[in-house]
Amino acid sequence: MRNKYVVERLRPFGETIFATMTQRANEAGAINLGQGFPDEDGPAPMLEIASQQILGGNNQYSGGRGDLGLRTAVASDRHKRFKLDYDPDTEVLITVGATEAISASVLGLVEPGDEVIVLEPYYDAYAAAIALAGATRVAVPLKEEDNTWVLDTDAVHAAVTKKTSMIIVNSPHNPTGSVFSKRSLEALAGIARAYDLLVLSDEVYEHLTFDKVSHTAVASLPGMWDRTITVSSAAKTFNVTGWKTGWALAPAPILEAVIRAKQFMSYVGATPFQPAVAHAVAHEKPWVKQMRKGLQNKRDILTDALTQAGLKVHDSHGTYFVVADIGERDGAEFCFDLIDRVGVAAIPVQAFVDKPEQWSSKVRFAFCKQEDTLREAAQRLRAAGSL
Ligand code: PMP
Ligand code: GLN
Repeated sequence: MRNKYVVERLRPFGETIFATMTQRANEAGAINLGQGFPDEDGPAPMLEIASQQILGGNNQYSGGRGDLGLRTAVASDRHKRFKLDYDPDTEVLITVGATEAISASVLGLVEPGDEVIVLEPYYDAYAAAIALAGATRVAVPLKEEDNTWVLDTDAVHAAVTKKTSMIIVNSPHNPTGSVFSKRSLEALAGIARAYDLLVLSDEVYEHLTFDKVSHTAVASLPGMWDRTITVSSAAKTFNVTGWKTGWALAPAPILEAVIRAKQFMSYVGATPFQPAVAHAVAHEKPWVKQMRKGLQNKRDILTDALTQAGLKVHDSHGTYFVVADIGERDGAEFCFDLIDRVGVAAIPVQAFVDKPEQWSSKVRFAFCKQEDTLREAAQRLRAAGSL
């Protein structure tokens, strides 16, 4: 509904699809495979440390860049996994979730009137950040290939203009579950270098890859450390989406621009969670490995259930999500009907795109739920007969 008080820049954005679907699911008592959040806790020592921090009095503002222990743990993890060097004092910033890191990066680095390339389907927060910055979103669709989606680097190349200043890339990719190959990311990096573009690399699902597919850190590609802002968060790696603790890494002058915006958005994030996440980043890799294994199994349970219910299911090699094709029908109508008729909630992929035609038959299901919940969803889907 039109509301005259909402500034023009935000008028195209209603309530997020995640909020809408979660509310509908709760009202109908449906199993919520829409919004991507896990229903189990993260590693116990991490939870313990957060409680101790609160009870022990670590309850005031941290320094503006966030807890040094967490910044150091994040930098050292990047070094261990990718041989990338970031100075915890000047090149790592703790943010209120990856969401704030994304908004602050766009607001601090993109001028009004600039163009920002996003790969469609794109996570909804990118569009809002670009709009708030007074910039223009240029959506380039992914290409369907081998029952999944790949980067269409020719199309990205064709979309670059004199006004382009940033490309936002997200791998492992929400909503498709695609993990982009190193080779395709290298091609994207070549475009960024040739046209002197910044790359915002959203890597929140960096640890959630399956079938031995590995994650490529964009900043690790030749010539990319200098121009990449890498964003990630504790949410998906340690089952703490409600802690809203994330980070951005970039060379000092680039990060300085991100901080200029971030300091007035929240100043700092919640202090007591940060030492707990620092512990998890440094010491809970075995827990993450187990969780990833479990998640791959959950992906298989849900994929089988959707297939048995008569849907064509695309391959997912990462994230919390799998996309199904519903044929000739409209994804949004299908999702509302699924809540009421079957008692399962999902998200229409068209909520993440500018050009819905190509995507209207695609629906995203989240499998980051306990196996019992997934089996109950599978049972409901089967009982509904052919969807
Ligand atoms: N980017 C992507 C691709 C996401 O799916 C999400 C949702 N977790 C975010 C960013 C936001 O992460 P956070 O909850 O840490 O703000
Ligand atoms: N990242 C989650 C998803 O894609 C939702 C986060 C949110 O509700 N904004 O489902």
